[in-house]
This record gives sequence, C-alpha cells and structure tokens, in this order.
Amino acid sequence: MENVEIARALNQVADLLELRNENPFKVRAYRNAARTVEGLSRRVAEMVEAGEDLEELPAIGKDMAAYITELVRTGRLKRLEELEQRVPQGLAELMHLEGVGPKKAMRLHEELGVSTVADLEKAIRAGEVETLRGFGRRSAARMLQAIRDYRRHGTRFKLSEADQLVQPILAHMRNAPGIEELEVAGSYRRRVETIGDVDLLAAARKPGPVIEHFAAYPGATRVESAGPTRATIVLHNGMHVDLRVVKPESWGAALHYFTGSKAHNIKVRWLGIQRGLKINEYGIFRETARDGGAARGTAARGKGGSTRGSAAARKSATARRSAAQRTAGRAAARKPATRHKAGPTLPRPRPHPGPVRLGGAREEDVFRAVGMDFVPPEMREDRGEVEAALRHELPRLVTLEDIRGDLQVHSTWSDGRDTIEAMVRAAKERGYEYIAITDHSPAVAVAGGLRPRDLARQWKEIDRVARKVKGIAVLKGMEVDILADGSLDLPDEWLERLDIVVVAVHSRMGMPQTKMTDRVIKGISHPGVHILAHPTGRIINRREPVRLDMDAVLEAAAELGVAVEINAQPDRLDVNDVHAMRARELGVLIAIDTDAHSVGDLRYMAYGVSQARRAWLEKRNVLNAMPLTRLEKWLAKRR
Ligand SMILES: [Zn+2]
Repeated sequence: MENVEIARALNQVADLLELRNENPFKVRAYRNAARTVEGLSRRVAEMVEAGEDLEELPAIGKDMAAYITELVRTGRLKRLEELEQRVPQGLAELMHLEGVGPKKAMRLHEELGVSTVADLEKAIRAGEVETLRGFGRRSAARMLQAIRDYRRHGTRFKLSEADQLVQPILAHMRNAPGIEELEVAGSYRRRVETIGDVDLLAAARKPGPVIEHFAAYPGATRVESAGPTRATIVLHNGMHVDLRVVKPESWGAALHYFTGSKAHNIKVRWLGIQRGLKINEYGIFRETARDGGAARGTAARGKGGSTRGSAAARKSATARRSAAQRTAGRAAARKPATRHKAGPTLPRPRPHPGPVRLGGAREEDVFRAVGMDFVPPEMREDRGEVEAALRHELPRLVTLEDIRGDLQVHSTWSDGRDTIEAMVRAAKERGYEYIAITDHSPAVAVAGGLRPRDLARQWKEIDRVARKVKGIAVLKGMEVDILADGSLDLPDEWLERLDIVVVAVHSRMGMPQTKMTDRVIKGISHPGVHILAHPTGRIINRREPVRLDMDAVLEAAAELGVAVEINAQPDRLDVNDVHAMRARELGVLIAIDTDAHSVGDLRYMAYGVSQARRAWLEKRNVLNAMPLTRLEKWLAKRR
C-alpha cells in the first residue's frame, strides 16, 4: 500500500467523523496524520515492514500508528468500515463540494434523503433545496456550480498522486521478461498538473510475457482488459493504468505518439506529410515512388508546403532517400535468409511496393525527420514549440539543478511542523545556497500567524540557527496577508526590517473580480513587497481559483518589478503554466517556492519546476535560480 492510499483512508475516516459531528480534535488528528503520511519521502509500508517506530513521525500517536500498521498489513481499516456502515458513502463525497460541508450534507440527507451528488442535483433542480431553512436560492445555485466543477475535475488525479502509484509499477515492470524499454507516456510525461489515465509504454520482441507480468501486478484491484499487446489494470483509487507493448524498432515513434499532446502530434504529422513522410506510432515511413507522389500532391494542395521546400530540403530529402535505400537494402538482405533458409538469396519482387521505414526506434528520429530540434515533453502542447523547434530557437528550460534556494517555507513558529533548524538543515542537504523562513502574519490566526513581537523573537532564533548551520544563508521573511482592502497585515516598520516579503490572499476569497484585482494590485504596490504567492488561491480538485484578472495583475507585477510565485505544492501549482508563460512574456520573474510545511515538502520543488518548464521558463526567468549575491541585490533594489 502506497502513502497516498494510506492518507486517503485516514482522510476518509476524518470525513465520516465530521459528518457524524464528532469531536473536531479527533477529526484533526486523522487529517494531520494523513498529511504527515502524504508528505513523507519514504514509503510508510517499508517502515512498517522494517519494524520502525511510526510514533516518531510528527502527528502520529499510538492509535494512528496502529491504524497505519493495520492498513499496511491487511489493506483494510476496520475503523473506516464501521463508520461506512453508519454513514451513507455518498455523503463524504457530498461534503467536499464547495459550499456544502459536513453539517449541510447531513441535513440534506436527513431532511431530503439526499445521499449522493446525483441526488443533490435532482433535489436542487426540483426546487427542494432552496426551501430548506438556511439554504436559499443563491446557495442552491452555488451548489449546482460546485457539482459541475466537481464533475469536471472528479476523475483526474494530481500528478503527485500518480507519481506515488506509478513508481512501484515501474519497479515491478522492470522485471518483466524480455522488456527492453519502459516509460510512462501521455499527460504524465508532459507533467500536466492533473492526469486521467496512466499510459505505460514498453518495448519488447515478445509482448505476451510482458502483458502477463503487468496483469499480475500485486497493487492492482482488477485487470480490466488484457489483449495480445495491450492491457489495462485498475488501482485502489480507481486510477486506470494502460500498458502497450511495441516492437523495439517502433519504440521512439510510439513514445512520441503516445506522449502527445494530440495537437502537437497533428502538427508534426503534417510536417511529415509535407515532406512526403508518413509518421505514426510504428515509425517514420517514406512512401515508395507511386504512393510518394500522391502524398506530395496532397501537401502541395494543402498549404503550398512543397513550394517552400528549398534546395536544402531537397538535399536532405535526397540524403534521406539514400538512407532509406540502405535501410531497405539491409532489410531485403536479411529477410529472405531468415524466412527461407534453403531458398534463393536474392530479394523476391514485392507485388505492392509498401512504404519504406526510415526510422522510429528513437524518439529523436521523429523530430529529425521533419527538421525539428528535440522538444522536451513538457512543451508538447502546440503552443508554438513546433515552430520554435523548426527555427532551432527552443528555450533552454530551467531544471531542478538550476534551483538555488526556496523562498517560501513555514516552520513551527506558525503552522509548519518542523523547526527552523530542521528546515534549514534539510535545505542545505538539498544543496541550496539560501532559504527564506516565511511564517504567516497575524491575520491568519488559525495558522498561528506571528505578531510583531513574535517576529522579533523569531529573528533571534534565525540568527542562532544561521550561526550554527554554516554554508547556507537564512533569510528573514514572512508570508504577509493582503487584507480585504489591499493593505498589508504588518506595520511598515516591520516590513522594512524583513529580508524578504511574500504576500498572499488567504481570506475573503469570494470577492467579485474587479474588487479582488484591485485588492491584489494594491497589495503588491507596497514598496516592501517582493513576491506574490499563490495568486489565484486554487486547490486542485477542491477549490476554484479566486476571480482575478491575471493579465492585469501580471502587468502590474511587471511594472512594479514584483516576482510572482509558482507555488510548487502539487495541489496548488499556482500560478499555472499558462499564466507563468504570460509572466515570462511580460518579463515578470517567477519564484518557484514549495510553501513547505515540513522537511518532506521541500521535495515538491520538482513539481514547481515541471510547471515552469511547461511555461517555457529558462533559468534567467526564475528568481530562485539566481546565486545568493544577485538575489540579495534584487531584494535590496525593491526597497
Ligand atoms: Zn499561503
């Protein structure tokens, strides 16, 4: 059992307890334990097997340790099953709809007999919900919208969730008999923020044993289908994993094809047609004389592509043709020998001259065939990458290794679970040059926001840690709230004394767009501000973004010289790739921050970097890819 699955079970218990209106401290105990498990970089199952003491983990007491052990050992949790018998299953789903919550879910159930999302929709449409005391027309309309949102996101999984489930499958598949290549394709490889199904691709000469090995994966709840070259299994959380097995000579073409996106593939295929090539999941083919003429005719009719074909293109076409002849020659020389051992050695005349294979074993073959540079998977969305690759002008995307520090992390001083010292040491271990401690400001009382006098004490602690842990700079920062009127939740004399000021909206998220936009722009206009954190406030699959004119905010950030965050938390990824791309166009620096609330969260940096790559960001676009000295200068200039 994987960490995400354990966390999911613990969260389910918390949901059901909440529905039963039980002690909120109990509910929180399950949620905190779930968060701990989800945030661990190690597999809890391994810790249990190794007999390690789970109680040493934060937020894991005796009961939680026992529940986790039970889950790992039996795959079940009796406590959850008991609760499920007492509370209708669908209600837990219902309570997660925006604007419903546990109390309303229970009342809907008791007063209207609603126990599923579908029931609720029916009841709203029948006008029953708006007549309930405390609900009203507007809240019914909001629930309807929430149902639509839920349906839209419902079946998609967070990338981090997929990662945890996919890694053990890959480990299992590497032992499949005769497997030569293995990769996850699809939106997972493009690092899209959420994914539907997982598309696994393998290359092997004999697909049968690979399929069998896949179908025997112990983590699957069922095998949905299994054919000669393709199979689908379903995991505990409902995620479908498809496996396709291709021949090694088709590996690259298949990997390109199944990585997508569809729009990207269509463009590449079209480029192929213009050059008389056929590109599909099996390889790259040149039509033989008769078919080839037809293909070129199509291209010419289509977009005049052949008239653009310059001398260089003709030259490369000739080169390719002779390469094709060599390939064809080799194939011809090989085939008869193996097929007819005692037969003639000359190639037999082919009745229908088929297409000639030019390549396809490597993904690079596909791009090379149409004159493109290799496009990193994260960019394959038809957002101009095909054209850029043809012009040999693809950006050099930022990598995880380029990141030199983390500019938003929390500690036990507010709602973090690890001490400043632990966070700093962990950052140093990652090879960072700097880390900013940015606990919450007073307005976020629930998250233990610091008042100015706490801040003064915290700085002493930061100084102490900085003296103790050498080789990494510790910046004094704060995640300061942008209050409803756009003012900042910390007096100016304190803001001035911070090394770095990160600002964010955490309250009154439902404001209309113009008000929210004014609020945020006013917030970042304060001269003390360096970074706007998680600008839209969205939580993937849970909370819609606030209504914000992002273009206006990004333009303001460009003018003010304020950086904008890609929050790397896998359920935030805020700003998203599209907004980050716009930021890049406007020359706004992006800070990729983990917003870590524990040492384990620091590894989320990889998710932020993936989104930055999807946004075409280079090292120079990323604030925390700067070396410390330059960062310090940048921070000081804002003052
Ligand atoms: Zn925040």
